[in-house]
Amino acid sequence: MDSISSLQNKLDSGRIIVMDGGTGTEISRRGVTIDPRGSWSANTNTEFPDMVRQIHIDYILAGAEIITTNTFSTSRATLANEGLSAQTEEINQKSVSLAIEAREHCDGAETVVIAGSMSAFEPKGHPEVTPSYEEALQDYREQVKILVESGIQLIALEMFSRTVDLKAAVQAATETGLPIWVGLSCENHDGQIYLGIAGRYAGETISDAVIASSSPNVKAFCIMHSPPKVTADALKELRNCTSLPMGAYAHGGSIDDERGITQNQEQGSQWEKYRRALGATDPEKYLEYVREWVRCGAIIVGGCCGTTPDHIRFLTTNNLK
Ligand SMILES: [Zn+2]
Repeated sequence: MDSISSLQNKLDSGRIIVMDGGTGTEISRRGVTIDPRGSWSANTNTEFPDMVRQIHIDYILAGAEIITTNTFSTSRATLANEGLSAQTEEINQKSVSLAIEAREHCDGAETVVIAGSMSAFEPKGHPEVTPSYEEALQDYREQVKILVESGIQLIALEMFSRTVDLKAAVQAATETGLPIWVGLSCENHDGQIYLGIAGRYAGETISDAVIASSSPNVKAFCIMHSPPKVTADALKELRNCTSLPMGAYAHGGSIDDERGITQNQEQGSQWEKYRRALGATDPEKYLEYVREWVRCGAIIVGGCCGTTPDHIRFLTTNNLK
């Protein structure tokens, strides 16, 4: 049985699946400056390929059953933020190669699934810009085609907080025939859960996102890159909207801020700033959150920004129930 069929069997049987943790913030932790207003960690694929490969290897060695390509910000529209759009094909191809090489490097890792990450549409570093469905669709179609031809097995849509680009991404991903996991970012505003990131929200709900993700290829919904405290409530709401498997991979922080808005003005290295902004949840505390999400019905768990191979190892070596 191939690894993707085996993954679907695990989902169907309700077994807990552990994904990898953060990639961009891990690159930052290892000393490479990434540009949050540009293309995040996109150019690391070609400029520091050994580091990206090693991060994938470290997650596999920590026990992750899924590794995610460093393609969070590598669609043409996002690469254009740093004048890298001419390298769209090269950067996306390279990122998948690095994940494949990492898997080949690790003995017994044939069953590790390579997920191709695609994220919300943010042209020219302006997250407030709302794309048209058509321009987002064109952007995602190009990126997902390269990722699939390069060898990904699963499409991980990540950090979606608007239905317009989510719907376009689901459409583009569906056209490839691969399974899709939809990742939603959520926030709590006045006791209500909305789709949103860092205080930007437009009154759309998890239910709206599930409706926008209507496709036979969508196999799971994850609450991801959301404050850990919000994640549990979002899972409960998600459970009322879908019978598909659910997952959760929060970012590792903003513990005390349920809205997830962080002030990032402190001095220090970029990683130190992320670490403070994200709250630097240690692996033990993160495990407690993961256990709560599992109680809420999540069977896919992992980490997003600020989590490290140590966090993932803590999940794979402890009982999650
Ligand atoms: Zn994240």
